[in-house]
Amino acid sequence: MMIVMKSTATEQEVQAVVDRVQSAGARAHPSRGEELTVIGAIGDREHIARLELEGAPGVDRVVPIMKPYKLASAQFKHGERTVLDIAGRKVGGHNFAMIAGVCTVESREQTLETARIVRDGGGTLFRGGAYKPRTSPYAFQGLGQEGLRLLQEAKLETGLPIVTELMDQRDLDNVLEVADVIQIGARNMQNYTLLAEVGRSGRPALLKRGLSSTLEELLMAAEYILKEGNEAVMLCERGIRTFETAYRFTLDLTAVPVLKELSHLPVIVDPSHAAGRRDIVTPLSLAAAAAGADGILVEVHPRPDDAICDGAQSLVADEFPEYVERVQAAAAVAGKVLAAA
Ligand code: PEP
Ligand code: MN
Repeated sequence: MMIVMKSTATEQEVQAVVDRVQSAGARAHPSRGEELTVIGAIGDREHIARLELEGAPGVDRVVPIMKPYKLASAQFKHGERTVLDIAGRKVGGHNFAMIAGVCTVESREQTLETARIVRDGGGTLFRGGAYKPRTSPYAFQGLGQEGLRLLQEAKLETGLPIVTELMDQRDLDNVLEVADVIQIGARNMQNYTLLAEVGRSGRPALLKRGLSSTLEELLMAAEYILKEGNEAVMLCERGIRTFETAYRFTLDLTAVPVLKELSHLPVIVDPSHAAGRRDIVTPLSLAAAAAGADGILVEVHPRPDDAICDGAQSLVADEFPEYVERVQAAAAVAGKVLAAA
Protein backbone atom coordinates (compact mmCIF):
# COMPACT_ATOMS: atom_id res chain seq x y z
CA MET A 1 0.00 0.00 0.00
CA MET A 2 1.04 3.57 -0.54
CA ILE A 3 -0.27 6.28 1.73
CA VAL A 4 -0.26 9.67 0.02
CA MET A 5 -0.23 12.52 2.54
CA LYS A 6 -1.90 15.86 1.88
CA SER A 7 0.43 18.68 0.88
CA THR A 8 -0.56 20.37 4.15
CA ALA A 9 0.29 17.33 6.30
CA THR A 10 2.51 18.07 9.27
CA GLU A 11 5.57 16.10 10.35
CA GLN A 12 3.58 14.83 13.38
CA GLU A 13 0.81 13.53 11.12
CA VAL A 14 3.39 11.73 8.97
CA GLN A 15 4.96 10.22 12.08
CA ALA A 16 1.57 9.15 13.42
CA VAL A 17 0.89 7.22 10.19
CA VAL A 18 4.36 5.64 10.30
CA ASP A 19 3.70 4.53 13.91
CA ARG A 20 0.31 3.05 13.05
CA VAL A 21 1.72 1.15 10.06
CA GLN A 22 4.48 -0.25 12.25
CA SER A 23 1.99 -1.19 14.97
CA ALA A 24 0.33 -3.47 12.38
CA GLY A 25 3.64 -5.32 11.94
CA ALA A 26 4.36 -3.66 8.59
CA ARG A 27 7.33 -1.59 7.45
CA ALA A 28 6.83 2.08 6.74
CA HIS A 29 9.01 3.85 4.15
CA PRO A 30 8.31 7.59 4.16
CA SER A 31 9.53 9.40 1.09
CA ARG A 32 9.50 13.18 1.17
CA GLY A 33 9.11 14.64 -2.28
CA GLU A 34 9.16 18.29 -3.23
CA GLU A 35 5.41 18.59 -2.99
CA LEU A 36 4.10 15.51 -1.29
CA THR A 37 5.12 12.98 1.29
CA VAL A 38 4.18 9.41 0.52
CA ILE A 39 4.58 6.50 2.89
CA GLY A 40 5.07 3.05 1.47
CA ALA A 41 3.57 0.42 3.78
CA ILE A 42 5.04 -3.00 3.10
CA GLY A 43 3.44 -5.93 4.85
CA ASP A 44 0.24 -7.87 5.15
CA ARG A 45 -2.35 -6.04 3.05
CA GLU A 46 -5.26 -7.10 5.28
CA HIS A 47 -3.58 -5.83 8.44
CA ILE A 48 -2.77 -2.49 6.82
CA ALA A 49 -6.30 -2.13 5.41
CA ARG A 50 -7.72 -2.71 8.90
CA LEU A 51 -5.94 0.44 10.11
CA GLU A 52 -8.40 2.46 7.98
CA LEU A 53 -5.80 5.11 7.28
CA GLU A 54 -7.98 6.68 4.60
CA GLY A 55 -9.57 9.09 7.09
CA ALA A 56 -6.55 9.67 9.33
CA PRO A 57 -5.32 13.26 9.89
CA GLY A 58 -3.11 14.47 7.03
CA VAL A 59 -3.85 11.46 4.78
CA ASP A 60 -5.05 12.25 1.29
CA ARG A 61 -5.54 8.73 -0.06
CA VAL A 62 -4.36 5.15 0.18
CA VAL A 63 -3.31 3.48 -3.07
CA PRO A 64 -2.62 -0.25 -3.36
CA ILE A 65 0.56 -1.15 -5.29
CA MET A 66 -0.32 -4.19 -7.36
CA LYS A 67 3.19 -4.91 -8.63
CA PRO A 68 5.33 -7.49 -6.82
CA TYR A 69 8.03 -4.82 -6.46
CA LYS A 70 6.85 -1.95 -4.28
CA LEU A 71 9.64 0.46 -3.41
CA ALA A 72 10.93 0.31 -6.99
CA SER A 73 7.54 0.94 -8.55
CA ALA A 74 6.55 4.21 -10.20
CA GLN A 75 3.43 4.37 -8.00
CA PHE A 76 5.60 4.40 -4.90
CA LYS A 77 6.93 7.85 -5.83
CA HIS A 78 3.61 9.02 -7.17
CA GLY A 79 5.08 9.60 -10.63
CA GLU A 80 8.07 11.61 -9.35
CA ARG A 81 11.52 10.62 -10.70
CA THR A 82 14.32 9.73 -8.34
CA VAL A 83 17.33 12.00 -8.70
CA LEU A 84 20.52 10.67 -7.11
CA ASP A 85 23.29 12.86 -5.83
CA ILE A 86 26.63 11.15 -6.34
CA ALA A 87 29.23 13.30 -4.61
CA GLY A 88 27.55 16.39 -6.03
CA ARG A 89 26.71 14.98 -9.49
CA LYS A 90 23.02 14.51 -10.14
CA VAL A 91 21.75 11.40 -11.90
CA GLY A 92 18.12 11.13 -13.02
CA GLY A 93 15.35 13.60 -13.77
CA HIS A 94 16.64 16.09 -16.33
CA ASN A 95 20.26 15.20 -15.67
CA PHE A 96 22.13 13.02 -18.11
CA ALA A 97 25.14 11.12 -16.71
CA MET A 98 28.16 10.19 -18.81
CA ILE A 99 29.75 7.34 -16.88
CA ALA A 100 32.93 6.48 -18.72
CA GLY A 101 36.23 4.79 -18.11
CA VAL A 102 38.18 1.62 -18.37
CA CYS A 103 36.69 -1.86 -18.49
CA THR A 104 39.43 -3.10 -16.21
CA VAL A 105 42.01 -1.27 -14.16
CA GLU A 106 45.19 -2.59 -15.77
CA SER A 107 47.90 -0.18 -14.71
CA ARG A 108 48.47 3.20 -13.09
CA GLU A 109 49.26 4.84 -16.42
CA GLN A 110 46.23 3.41 -18.26
CA THR A 111 43.85 4.32 -15.41
CA LEU A 112 45.08 7.87 -14.79
CA GLU A 113 45.38 8.65 -18.48
CA THR A 114 41.81 7.52 -19.10
CA ALA A 115 40.48 9.34 -16.05
CA ARG A 116 42.00 12.63 -17.27
CA ILE A 117 40.47 12.12 -20.70
CA VAL A 118 37.07 11.37 -19.18
CA ARG A 119 37.27 14.47 -16.98
CA ASP A 120 38.43 16.74 -19.81
CA GLY A 121 35.82 15.30 -22.18
CA GLY A 122 32.97 16.13 -19.82
CA GLY A 123 32.42 12.81 -18.06
CA THR A 124 30.20 12.71 -14.98
CA LEU A 125 31.58 9.63 -13.21
CA PHE A 126 34.60 7.39 -13.79
CA ARG A 127 34.14 3.64 -14.15
CA GLY A 128 36.78 0.96 -13.71
CA GLY A 129 36.77 -2.67 -12.63
CA ALA A 130 39.16 -3.92 -9.98
CA TYR A 131 37.28 -7.21 -9.53
CA LYS A 132 36.27 -8.61 -12.91
CA PRO A 133 33.67 -11.27 -13.66
CA ARG A 134 35.33 -13.28 -16.44
CA THR A 135 33.81 -16.18 -18.34
CA SER A 136 37.08 -18.07 -18.15
CA PRO A 137 38.68 -18.76 -14.76
CA TYR A 138 42.05 -18.61 -16.59
CA ALA A 139 41.47 -15.03 -17.79
CA PHE A 140 42.81 -11.99 -15.89
CA GLN A 141 40.54 -11.51 -12.87
CA GLY A 142 41.42 -7.89 -12.14
CA LEU A 143 43.99 -6.20 -9.92
CA GLY A 144 41.77 -6.43 -6.84
CA GLN A 145 42.90 -4.21 -3.96
CA GLU A 146 45.71 -2.70 -6.01
CA GLY A 147 43.07 -1.76 -8.62
CA LEU A 148 41.00 -0.04 -5.94
CA ARG A 149 44.06 1.92 -4.87
CA LEU A 150 44.58 3.14 -8.44
CA LEU A 151 40.92 4.16 -8.68
CA GLN A 152 41.36 6.16 -5.49
CA GLU A 153 44.33 7.91 -7.05
CA ALA A 154 42.27 8.68 -10.17
CA LYS A 155 39.52 10.11 -7.98
CA LEU A 156 41.93 12.30 -6.02
CA GLU A 157 43.53 13.63 -9.18
CA THR A 158 40.44 14.25 -11.30
CA GLY A 159 37.70 14.72 -8.73
CA LEU A 160 35.56 12.23 -10.63
CA PRO A 161 33.41 9.98 -8.43
CA ILE A 162 34.12 6.27 -8.90
CA VAL A 163 31.89 3.44 -10.11
CA THR A 164 33.37 0.00 -9.48
CA GLU A 165 32.05 -3.53 -9.32
CA LEU A 166 31.62 -5.58 -6.16
CA MET A 167 31.52 -9.33 -6.82
CA ASP A 168 31.99 -10.78 -3.38
CA GLN A 169 30.67 -9.40 -0.12
CA ARG A 170 33.99 -10.19 1.55
CA ASP A 171 35.42 -7.29 -0.47
CA LEU A 172 32.69 -4.85 0.59
CA ASP A 173 34.73 -2.89 3.12
CA ASN A 174 37.57 -2.37 0.67
CA VAL A 175 35.21 -1.34 -2.12
CA LEU A 176 33.40 1.07 0.21
CA GLU A 177 36.66 2.94 0.78
CA VAL A 178 36.75 3.97 -2.87
CA ALA A 179 33.40 3.48 -4.58
CA ASP A 180 30.92 6.33 -4.83
CA VAL A 181 28.71 3.88 -6.71
CA ILE A 182 28.86 0.10 -6.31
CA GLN A 183 28.26 -1.73 -9.56
CA ILE A 184 26.47 -5.08 -9.39
CA GLY A 185 27.34 -6.95 -12.56
CA ALA A 186 24.90 -8.72 -14.84
CA ARG A 187 26.03 -12.10 -13.55
CA ASN A 188 25.27 -11.11 -9.96
CA MET A 189 21.91 -9.48 -10.55
CA GLN A 190 20.19 -12.27 -8.68
CA ASN A 191 22.80 -12.74 -5.97
CA TYR A 192 20.31 -11.79 -3.30
CA THR A 193 22.66 -11.84 -0.33
CA LEU A 194 25.04 -9.52 -2.18
CA LEU A 195 22.15 -7.20 -3.09
CA ALA A 196 20.97 -7.01 0.52
CA GLU A 197 24.52 -6.33 1.69
CA VAL A 198 24.86 -3.44 -0.77
CA GLY A 199 21.46 -2.24 0.40
CA ARG A 200 22.64 -2.20 4.00
CA SER A 201 25.84 -0.38 3.05
CA GLY A 202 23.73 2.61 1.99
CA ARG A 203 26.11 3.33 -0.90
CA PRO A 204 24.52 4.19 -4.27
CA ALA A 205 24.28 1.14 -6.52
CA LEU A 206 24.29 0.58 -10.27
CA LEU A 207 22.43 -2.66 -10.91
CA LYS A 208 22.97 -4.33 -14.27
CA ARG A 209 20.29 -6.41 -15.90
CA GLY A 210 21.11 -10.13 -16.02
CA LEU A 211 21.91 -11.64 -19.40
CA SER A 212 18.54 -13.40 -19.55
CA SER A 213 16.52 -11.50 -16.99
CA THR A 214 13.13 -9.94 -17.48
CA LEU A 215 12.46 -6.37 -16.45
CA GLU A 216 10.34 -7.64 -13.59
CA GLU A 217 13.27 -9.72 -12.32
CA LEU A 218 15.51 -6.65 -12.58
CA LEU A 219 13.05 -4.59 -10.56
CA MET A 220 12.71 -7.35 -7.97
CA ALA A 221 16.51 -7.36 -7.66
CA ALA A 222 16.45 -3.58 -7.16
CA GLU A 223 13.80 -4.14 -4.48
CA TYR A 224 16.32 -6.21 -2.48
CA ILE A 225 18.60 -3.16 -2.27
CA LEU A 226 15.80 -0.66 -1.63
CA LYS A 227 14.23 -2.83 1.05
CA GLU A 228 17.32 -2.34 3.23
CA GLY A 229 16.66 1.39 3.26
CA ASN A 230 19.05 2.27 0.43
CA GLU A 231 17.13 4.51 -1.97
CA ALA A 232 20.03 5.20 -4.31
CA VAL A 233 19.72 2.64 -7.09
CA MET A 234 20.26 3.02 -10.84
CA LEU A 235 19.10 0.35 -13.25
CA CYS A 236 21.33 -0.55 -16.18
CA GLU A 237 20.34 -2.15 -19.47
CA ARG A 238 23.47 -3.78 -20.92
CA GLY A 239 22.13 -6.14 -23.58
CA ILE A 240 20.42 -9.49 -23.29
CA ARG A 241 20.79 -12.93 -24.88
CA THR A 242 18.64 -13.49 -27.93
CA PHE A 243 18.92 -15.79 -30.97
CA GLU A 244 20.98 -13.12 -32.76
CA THR A 245 24.70 -13.86 -33.01
CA ALA A 246 25.90 -10.97 -35.20
CA TYR A 247 26.82 -8.95 -32.12
CA ARG A 248 27.69 -9.73 -28.51
CA PHE A 249 24.26 -9.08 -26.95
CA THR A 250 21.01 -7.50 -28.10
CA LEU A 251 20.68 -4.02 -26.62
CA ASP A 252 17.08 -3.88 -25.48
CA LEU A 253 16.28 -0.20 -25.87
CA THR A 254 12.58 -0.92 -25.43
CA ALA A 255 13.55 -1.43 -21.81
CA VAL A 256 14.32 2.29 -21.43
CA PRO A 257 10.82 3.75 -21.77
CA VAL A 258 9.25 0.67 -20.21
CA LEU A 259 11.46 0.72 -17.12
CA LYS A 260 10.75 4.41 -16.78
CA GLU A 261 7.05 3.69 -16.91
CA LEU A 262 7.33 0.91 -14.32
CA SER A 263 9.83 2.54 -11.97
CA HIS A 264 10.98 5.91 -10.62
CA LEU A 265 14.64 4.82 -10.64
CA PRO A 266 17.17 6.27 -13.12
CA VAL A 267 17.86 4.07 -16.15
CA ILE A 268 21.40 3.86 -17.53
CA VAL A 269 22.37 2.15 -20.79
CA ASP A 270 25.66 0.32 -21.38
CA PRO A 271 26.21 0.14 -25.14
CA SER A 272 29.75 -1.28 -24.83
CA HIS A 273 28.95 -4.72 -23.46
CA ALA A 274 25.93 -5.06 -25.73
CA ALA A 275 27.86 -4.17 -28.88
CA GLY A 276 31.10 -5.99 -28.28
CA ARG A 277 32.60 -3.80 -31.01
CA ARG A 278 33.60 -0.17 -31.05
CA ASP A 279 32.08 0.85 -34.39
CA ILE A 280 28.50 0.45 -33.19
CA VAL A 281 28.90 1.91 -29.71
CA THR A 282 28.18 5.45 -30.91
CA PRO A 283 24.92 4.73 -32.78
CA LEU A 284 23.66 2.65 -29.85
CA SER A 285 24.56 5.45 -27.45
CA LEU A 286 22.75 8.05 -29.55
CA ALA A 287 19.66 5.85 -29.71
CA ALA A 288 19.74 5.23 -25.95
CA ALA A 289 20.09 8.93 -25.15
CA ALA A 290 17.30 9.89 -27.55
CA ALA A 291 15.09 7.17 -26.03
CA GLY A 292 15.30 8.94 -22.68
CA ALA A 293 18.06 7.06 -20.87
CA ASP A 294 19.32 8.90 -17.78
CA GLY A 295 22.90 8.13 -18.67
CA ILE A 296 25.41 6.00 -20.51
CA LEU A 297 28.02 3.62 -19.10
CA VAL A 298 30.77 3.33 -21.68
CA GLU A 299 34.25 1.82 -21.93
CA VAL A 300 37.19 3.91 -23.11
CA HIS A 301 40.86 2.96 -23.47
CA PRO A 302 43.91 5.03 -24.49
CA ARG A 303 45.23 2.08 -26.58
CA PRO A 304 42.36 -0.39 -27.03
CA ASP A 305 44.53 -2.79 -29.06
CA ASP A 306 46.64 -3.38 -25.96
CA ALA A 307 43.72 -3.75 -23.57
CA ILE A 308 43.67 -6.86 -21.41
CA CYS A 309 39.89 -6.98 -21.47
CA ASP A 310 37.18 -5.70 -23.83
CA GLY A 311 39.54 -3.73 -26.10
CA ALA A 312 37.41 -4.40 -29.18
CA GLN A 313 34.43 -2.57 -27.70
CA SER A 314 36.33 0.25 -25.99
CA LEU A 315 36.17 3.70 -27.53
CA VAL A 316 39.54 5.15 -28.48
CA ALA A 317 40.25 7.78 -25.84
CA ASP A 318 41.17 10.47 -28.41
CA GLU A 319 37.69 10.24 -29.85
CA PHE A 320 35.93 10.56 -26.52
CA PRO A 321 35.31 14.35 -26.55
CA GLU A 322 33.57 14.17 -29.93
CA TYR A 323 31.58 11.16 -28.77
CA VAL A 324 30.37 13.07 -25.69
CA GLU A 325 29.28 16.01 -27.82
CA ARG A 326 27.20 13.79 -30.05
CA VAL A 327 25.58 11.90 -27.17
CA GLN A 328 24.89 15.16 -25.40
CA ALA A 329 22.99 16.41 -28.46
CA ALA A 330 20.91 13.21 -28.52
CA ALA A 331 20.18 13.54 -24.79
CA ALA A 332 19.01 17.09 -25.42
CA VAL A 333 16.42 15.68 -27.83
CA ALA A 334 14.97 13.84 -24.82
CA GLY A 335 15.11 17.02 -22.73
CA LYS A 336 18.21 16.14 -20.72
CA VAL A 337 21.34 18.06 -19.90
CA LEU A 338 24.75 16.49 -19.36
CA ALA A 339 25.72 16.71 -15.71
CA ALA A 340 29.47 17.08 -16.07
CA ALA A 341 32.03 17.02 -13.29
C1 PEP B 1 31.36 -4.37 -16.73
O1 PEP B 1 30.62 -3.39 -16.80
O2 PEP B 1 32.58 -4.29 -16.51
C2 PEP B 1 30.79 -5.73 -16.89
C3 PEP B 1 31.49 -6.80 -16.61
O3 PEP B 1 29.53 -5.72 -17.32
P1 PEP B 1 28.38 -6.84 -17.25
O4 PEP B 1 28.23 -7.23 -15.82
O5 PEP B 1 27.18 -6.12 -17.80
O6 PEP B 1 28.82 -7.97 -18.14
MN1 MN C 1 34.07 -4.69 -19.93
